[in-house]
Amino acid sequence: MRETVCALHRELVRNNLVAWTAGNVSGRVPGEDLFVIKPSGVSYDDLTPEAMVVCDLEGNLVEGAFSPSSDTAAHAYVYRHMPEVNGVVHTHSTYASAWAARGEPIPCVLTAMADEFGGEIPVGPFALIGNDDIGKGIVAVLESHRSPAVLMRNHGVFTIGDSPKAAVKAAVMCEDVARTVHLSRQLGEPLPIPQGDIDRLYDRYQNVYGQRSQR
Ligand SMILES: [Zn+2]
Repeated sequence: MRETVCALHRELVRNNLVAWTAGNVSGRVPGEDLFVIKPSGVSYDDLTPEAMVVCDLEGNLVEGAFSPSSDTAAHAYVYRHMPEVNGVVHTHSTYASAWAARGEPIPCVLTAMADEFGGEIPVGPFALIGNDDIGKGIVAVLESHRSPAVLMRNHGVFTIGDSPKAAVKAAVMCEDVARTVHLSRQLGEPLPIPQGDIDRLYDRYQNVYGQRSQR
């Protein structure tokens, strides 16, 4: 899991989702009440599997030479309250955070959004770092939406997945659709997709699309 989480941080850089050190990936350790997360303030270029930090589900450091990411409490809260989640990602990716700054959900106006998110990408509450408020906001919103991504108001993106890779994919797709819907808005009002069609697209993508062995 250290190797997996370390390698996935390179995807945040490759997909232009992060500036400086502001973004992190975590992954639940299979069969343990533990997760692996990025160390705080370490450059992406300097990340190695050994530098990754292991925490318990309260966010306490269990193993590692560095202190854990400052977002560790939010990741830990998600793992405690959403047992089906095995990966969490946080970014301040540009276009998605622009929607978050307005507190505006991204409307479901693209078939790719219906596929991945099953509807709009919702907005979570404004919350300060330092306690469980961010985690509570993430869980409250994502428990009642199909979307694996939430835009935390005035802040940025949190995504979840059944693996760390799935959570990274959701973060990449979230930024992609945030950009496209933003551009669409510049020349007019994007056309909504009827709910029945969103449901059909979501069901097909989640259950039929792709290689069965990779689902
Ligand atoms: Zn943040």
